[in-house]
Amino acid sequence: MYWLIKELSPNLFFIIFMVFLYQYWFEQKDWTSVIKNWVTFFTCAITIILCMSFPVHVGQNFIYDLRNVPLILGSLYGNTYVAIGLASVTLIARYFSSGILGFYISVIVVGIGLLLVYLIRGKFHSLKSNHRLLTATIIVTFLVLVVSILSETLTANSNHASLNISDWLAYIIANIMATFIAGKIVESVRTNDLVRKRLLRNEKLEIVSHLASSISHEVRNPLTASRGFLQLLSEEDIPKKCEKYITIAIDEMDRAEGVIRDYLTFAKPAFEHAEIFQVEDELVRAINVIKPLANMNNITMESTLLPSEIKGERARLQQCFMNLMKNAIEAMPNGGKLLIESKVEKGYVTISISDTGVGMTKEQVSRLGEPYFSTKGMKGTGLGMMVVYRIVESFDGVIEVESEIGQGTTFTLKIPSISKQTTAV
Ligand code: ADP
Ligand code: MG
Repeated sequence: MYWLIKELSPNLFFIIFMVFLYQYWFEQKDWTSVIKNWVTFFTCAITIILCMSFPVHVGQNFIYDLRNVPLILGSLYGNTYVAIGLASVTLIARYFSSGILGFYISVIVVGIGLLLVYLIRGKFHSLKSNHRLLTATIIVTFLVLVVSILSETLTANSNHASLNISDWLAYIIANIMATFIAGKIVESVRTNDLVRKRLLRNEKLEIVSHLASSISHEVRNPLTASRGFLQLLSEEDIPKKCEKYITIAIDEMDRAEGVIRDYLTFAKPAFEHAEIFQVEDELVRAINVIKPLANMNNITMESTLLPSEIKGERARLQQCFMNLMKNAIEAMPNGGKLLIESKVEKGYVTISISDTGVGMTKEQVSRLGEPYFSTKGMKGTGLGMMVVYRIVESFDGVIEVESEIGQGTTFTLKIPSISKQTTAV
């Protein structure tokens, strides 16, 4: 038993070295997800080969090592191509090692491993950190159990050498420990990164909030004063032409005041005039305001609005709809379709706004709501989505985003409906 653990210690060293490299690489901010997947592939592939170069030899047919740990961790955390690549590397390396019987077992084990990863991968990243660790450990444990059973079955009635029960136990425990240690490090790296990103986001939000309240104060006051004087001027005896100019100036000032109000709502998250209102009324109002912009861009708008009621400040929700619709229109520079739906589902008012526009990458989706995040260069402010998130939060709601590059984006807002609130009281 002890000899086997001793023989496997270089393997454990390679795996721990692999995750430390992973930690270093994970922090490289300017790497795209493509580069990160390549790096994951190479790191795991080299670790697999190193593990297989320092195995425990048993007879002529079998070599035992910890290769399943980098294989499964790499396949779960990388993308499908990484998984297929690592499986191929494992099999090629095993083919060139000693013993064809062992190679056949490897084919079966790697096949099962790939299948399990394929079945779990859709849900894997949405699992909690501990559950991800448990999943990886269970898969590796299952695979090494398959290795043990297959090896024992194939050697039972022949004179091939095999391991005794305590050695098998040591082999299985070494695999479980290696997966647990490596998985735990990978998970802490990811958690730390998430916490750091959140911290950065909150700091930015804080700065923007301060800036917002000072702007609203500094800019609103002169605007209100100028508007007042223009109003006074319009009441004087002035030529018709000047009257027209004053009206335009007052309208524009109202618009500027509107823009400030729109973008700065997030600075005061508490409800000012909370009331019960129909969501579809606000949607219709937002649709009517946005329609000319949609027409100008060759965008057809369709809506299916079912009656629903919520409590809060209606102007804010309308602001939120406007920001989402404006973004949707801007995402369809060559025309398209804007679909707006609302209904009540399981106590929540569900509003979805879908476009057939340019879509977003996963990275972009994860940055939505971050102050100043914009892909529109000088034209964008990167404040619209932040306002949306803040408003929906203040309604105790959540936002779900589905987006596919080149296909379009759907934003789904889920806000507690008033009927649910009534039953909850
Ligand atoms: P802005 O519109 O000023 O750029 P926002 O906060 O409104 O700022 O949006 C942030 C970014 O989110 C946009 O620059 C864009 O990249 C992305 N985005 C938002 N909505 C959509 C959408 N419907 N389709 C594609 N990308 C979108
Ligand atoms: Mg916007």
